[in-house]
Amino acid sequence: MIPIGGLGEMGIGKNMMAIEYDNDIIVIDMGFLFPGSDYPGINYIVPDITYLLENKHKIRGIIFTHGHLDHIGAVRHLLHQLPAPVYGSKFTLAMVQKNMQEATTEYAPDYHVMDPEAHEQVFLGDNFSIELVRVNHSIPDATAVVVRTPEGVVVDTGDWRFEDNPVDGVKFDLDRLTEIATKEGITLLMNESTNCESDGTHTHGEFDIQQSMGQVMEKYPNSRLIISACSSQIHRMQIILDEAKKHGRKVAFAGYSMIQNVEVALRTGTITVPKDVIVKMEDIIKLPDSKVTIICTGSQGEFSAVLNRMANGSHKYIKIKNSDQIVFSSNPIPGNEKYVTRTVDGLMREGSGVIQNGKTHLTGIGPLHLSGHGYYDDHVKLINALNPTFYMPIHGEFHMLVHNAELAEKEAGIPRDNIFVCDSGDVVEISQGQARKAGRVPVGGVMYDDSGEIVSEVVLKDRIHMSNEGIFVVVLTVQKGSGRLLTSPDIISRGFIYLRDSEELMGIIRQYLKQKVARTFNGRKVDLDVAKKEIKDELTHVLYDQTRRTPIVIPVINEIGGGGKPQNNGDRGNAQGEQQNRGQGNQGGNRPFKRPAPKSFPAPAVPDSEAIEPKVRSYTRGY
Ligand SMILES: [Zn+2]
Ligand SMILES: [Zn+2]
Repeated sequence: MIPIGGLGEMGIGKNMMAIEYDNDIIVIDMGFLFPGSDYPGINYIVPDITYLLENKHKIRGIIFTHGHLDHIGAVRHLLHQLPAPVYGSKFTLAMVQKNMQEATTEYAPDYHVMDPEAHEQVFLGDNFSIELVRVNHSIPDATAVVVRTPEGVVVDTGDWRFEDNPVDGVKFDLDRLTEIATKEGITLLMNESTNCESDGTHTHGEFDIQQSMGQVMEKYPNSRLIISACSSQIHRMQIILDEAKKHGRKVAFAGYSMIQNVEVALRTGTITVPKDVIVKMEDIIKLPDSKVTIICTGSQGEFSAVLNRMANGSHKYIKIKNSDQIVFSSNPIPGNEKYVTRTVDGLMREGSGVIQNGKTHLTGIGPLHLSGHGYYDDHVKLINALNPTFYMPIHGEFHMLVHNAELAEKEAGIPRDNIFVCDSGDVVEISQGQARKAGRVPVGGVMYDDSGEIVSEVVLKDRIHMSNEGIFVVVLTVQKGSGRLLTSPDIISRGFIYLRDSEELMGIIRQYLKQKVARTFNGRKVDLDVAKKEIKDELTHVLYDQTRRTPIVIPVINEIGGGGKPQNNGDRGNAQGEQQNRGQGNQGGNRPFKRPAPKSFPAPAVPDSEAIEPKVRSYTRGY
């Protein structure tokens, strides 16, 4: 077992597991991770697949457990690099295909839809066969993967919860897993860890939420209802559509990811739309308030999502009014509470009512949300039913993995020596009935920004440095030969201190620069890179001494000589890897600057499930 990502990360995401035997490798999931505001300008992080690239001739298949972005988000960057047939359930593969439409390559993998209910098995290479088993989760068509290997049966649970009464009527197939456990025995269970720290089990199901939606519609028959939920919660949308139909309401969807996912659900027959209920956003606003229901993104308080735009009055179609009722069919992901609060406060300032899950005592309405992941007691039930020889917690921050391991030892009697708590990269080897940790493979992450481009670690470091300390640029114009300063040094500062309030400090800096130039140039031939490095270091010290701050210091030296044409040296990078602004050299002559056509970029990815934000950033790991 080679976890390429997803174990002990900062937050839940970039889930990716490789299983290797002899000349065969199969890969389960290919997710990305939303790193949050600690990584300014970074949209998501994709697993480093160095190990798989070195062994790509061995890869026989790539299997997806379900369509959440922490499991499929990286496909458009990785699939073409690891060409192999792709397996998964119908809706899951439709979500993968939708993601591949935004890939920059033309690569189209062979998709093989597998039917979990048929218990179909597919052989991959000489050593593996795979079977999908139905689980319930907060996205339709989720599965576990059973992998039969020469060393026994390995189960990857994917993400799961138990549901007595799932919206699509298809229950977690614990019978099938139990049958495999009884007949063949399970050598290794790899079980997700997201909610194993939560006590007990779920006390309600999706149909209870439908009832709550009905309550809202009855309590506020003349209000517009605006309901926000995770964009991949297709079954939640189903129950809202059904309830709207009952109450004679129409429904519009708002938000890019929401509309995209609904389209996939419609295309695959995953959602059944009651007749004449869905209308377009621009049409629903023409209807009387009593007919209007809008399902939108923004349940996590995301800044640019629909709900927040309504909250700050900048939405194209919807201006919030006093009679509106906003329903949060969600829980804030730990870490997002303050953003959700900002949105709620904004909505209330605009005058609407706000109904949040977990606040039934205030509104008389609830429950409005159901987590996609099983709780403590559910894990106990699953592990005992499967009775594996070896156990490996996956899909979680390190503390979750540890608690999952403790749970398996305490409640299912798995000996401590048979449980493997791993970080991504830790290899677990099973051989002749024995299991052990067997070294590491290189792992890590590749960061992408909103435009889908890679961001280097150096750029991110500069960004964080600048956001904390600011930037300080000095521009010196000196005469070639004499080294005489031709103008007083230009000083530009952003995010550091306000220059006009700092006359004394500026005086010090100017004096330093004049003297430095006089000493350095003084008729000698000067290595400009060396001079700039010295000025940078010395100024950094002066500024620290005077302000206790360490802005990024960038010296620019223009040498002017001969015919008096400025010779700009400011566009040469230096050893610190800084990116300096390009000087206006005159290499372009007098030709007018022709603006190139704007590029088109993919829409930034937004969280689509509840389990993508870290609970505690207790340690840091360099990417
Ligand atoms: Zn997940
Ligand atoms: Zn999931």
